[in-house]
Amino acid sequence: MQRSYIRNFCIIAHIDHGKSTLADRFLQKAGLVEDRVFRDQILDSMDIERERGITIKSQAVRFSYENKENEEYIFNLVDTPGHVDFSYEVNRSISSCEGALLLVDASQGISAQTLANYYIAAEHELSIIPIINKIDLPAADIAGVSAQMEHEFGIKKEDIVLISAKQGKGIHTLFERIVTDIPPPPEGKDERLRAQIFDSHYDSYVGAVMHVRVFSGTLKRGMRVYGFAADKEYEIERLGYLALGMQDQEHLTTGEIGFFTANIKNISELRVGDTITESKFPCDAPLVGFKELTSYVYSAVFPLDADGFDDLTKGLDRLSLNDASLTYTRESSNSLGSGYLCGFLGLLHLEIIQERLEREFDLSVIFTAPTVEYTVNTKDGVQHRISQPEHLPSQEHIAEVKEPYIKALIICPTEYLGNIMNLCISNRGEQKSIRYVDLKRVELIFELPLSEILYEFYDRLKSLSRGYASFDYELIDNRPVELARLDILINGKKVDALSQLIFKNKATQRAREICKGLKASIPKHQHAIAIQGAIGGHIISRETISAFRKDVLAKCYGGDISRKRKLLEKQKKGKKRLMTVGDVEIPQKALLSVLKTSE
Ligand code: GDP
Ligand code: MG
Repeated sequence: MQRSYIRNFCIIAHIDHGKSTLADRFLQKAGLVEDRVFRDQILDSMDIERERGITIKSQAVRFSYENKENEEYIFNLVDTPGHVDFSYEVNRSISSCEGALLLVDASQGISAQTLANYYIAAEHELSIIPIINKIDLPAADIAGVSAQMEHEFGIKKEDIVLISAKQGKGIHTLFERIVTDIPPPPEGKDERLRAQIFDSHYDSYVGAVMHVRVFSGTLKRGMRVYGFAADKEYEIERLGYLALGMQDQEHLTTGEIGFFTANIKNISELRVGDTITESKFPCDAPLVGFKELTSYVYSAVFPLDADGFDDLTKGLDRLSLNDASLTYTRESSNSLGSGYLCGFLGLLHLEIIQERLEREFDLSVIFTAPTVEYTVNTKDGVQHRISQPEHLPSQEHIAEVKEPYIKALIICPTEYLGNIMNLCISNRGEQKSIRYVDLKRVELIFELPLSEILYEFYDRLKSLSRGYASFDYELIDNRPVELARLDILINGKKVDALSQLIFKNKATQRAREICKGLKASIPKHQHAIAIQGAIGGHIISRETISAFRKDVLAKCYGGDISRKRKLLEKQKKGKKRLMTVGDVEIPQKALLSVLKTSE
């Protein structure tokens, strides 16, 4: 493919501003999907994405466009996720593009992620096409949103493309602008192969599939290549481009985006971010890798069945191929056995990984309470990084504990300003600045402990502002904290998975919430159950679940034995997802819901 006819771009926007819908229109206009088989948000291929209506994973797709002069262009589009948890995905997609479509909802205006993503795109020097979407809505405020964009991004009003992704209005103009405004991929440094792996996925037929962007040279089928970070050689087996499926090709040249498969034995060795080159004629140095990934939230995962460890390993290996932002290292716990300590980008990310492990790999696992990573200095002068309560040194050895802080950027309509300031302050936030974006909106900057925004901060922010506030954050530094370890006891037995590290002044309140939550979500047993919260051996809260006799077979009067058997089997299957503490069975769902809520 001739370089000058290639355009590589991504769509960036706040969640729900219409990225996936716009991608749908592109693919339809390009004739990639027949109207007959079309379904909305077609790039959101995971079940969870479709159920929740959010894009979790970036997707690459290639299609062609013929302009008025009958010249054929190749467009490589990358749809990116918009939730604050997934900005790392945005970062990676951007690295393989020359342009970005910056999409803003005509009824919502600029929000925190619009700004955050804009800065990422600008930093990578992408050509940005400003777009206002949803102009068909009665509440569309085109003049107001244009003024905001002009003010925030310094772009001219007349450069903004007005579209309705839903109705397909303005899409043709947008295609023309992509051709004229976004430059073709630059020439390679020399003829040597430099290709960067920017994503990957696991395919049950062909195994690991790597997504690459070729920056110089040509990648050919059968070629022997060398991965710099993996420090290994591979032979390219299949290669081609992605267009809602794998389209095989003989080669990929400079500027092209596509995929390859190779004889990769251990799927954890060749990773996203690595540069591959030709073994025989290697390039001088690898391309610059992606921004270092930071995990925000940690949780350890253990198999519920003792023999489930190998399956868990396999599941995590494959999932991480599909999700480069998941990190995991071996972890062992006295009571839970062998497992992994996982690092996540946020709670939503954790929830999704948990759901995918269950759905895609049919694993029954238990996740410990999500927590941030604390820096603990002990009196012997050693520094520890700790996220699991089990590893916290005893109080008399600790010199100082520090916790991570974030800088939060919040944009909200002025009428909710009071609510939102209170929310931040009650979460130990410190206000840094306030600025009027326009007459109706303010931008707030707060510094908060990361641990305070883990639990439902985002949901509260949304409900306190009727959904209008938006939020983005980044880690800044570590600051001293008074830390306590909260234990939960069930009938006197400590439940390790529920122990957590917590800001001392909030421990009692949190203990009460957890006990209440557990009481509500553990089904009654044939004996009474005591649920207690404790710090350093002192009980600080208690709830009791009274006894109840449940006879599942009572429903099956009459003698249909097969029905009875089915019911018992169903119950047995349900048990797989249970954790037992002494003689109490705790549904895994109960554990997670308790860890998440704080009401
Ligand atoms: P994403 O989160 O940015 O990928 O947003 P989606 O594409 O999933 O769209 C979010 C919602 O906005 C969906 O309910 C879409 O149907 C709706 N939507 C997207 N574009 C338009 C549009 O141009 N007009 C209207 N009225 N609704 C739209
Ligand atoms: Mg989407």
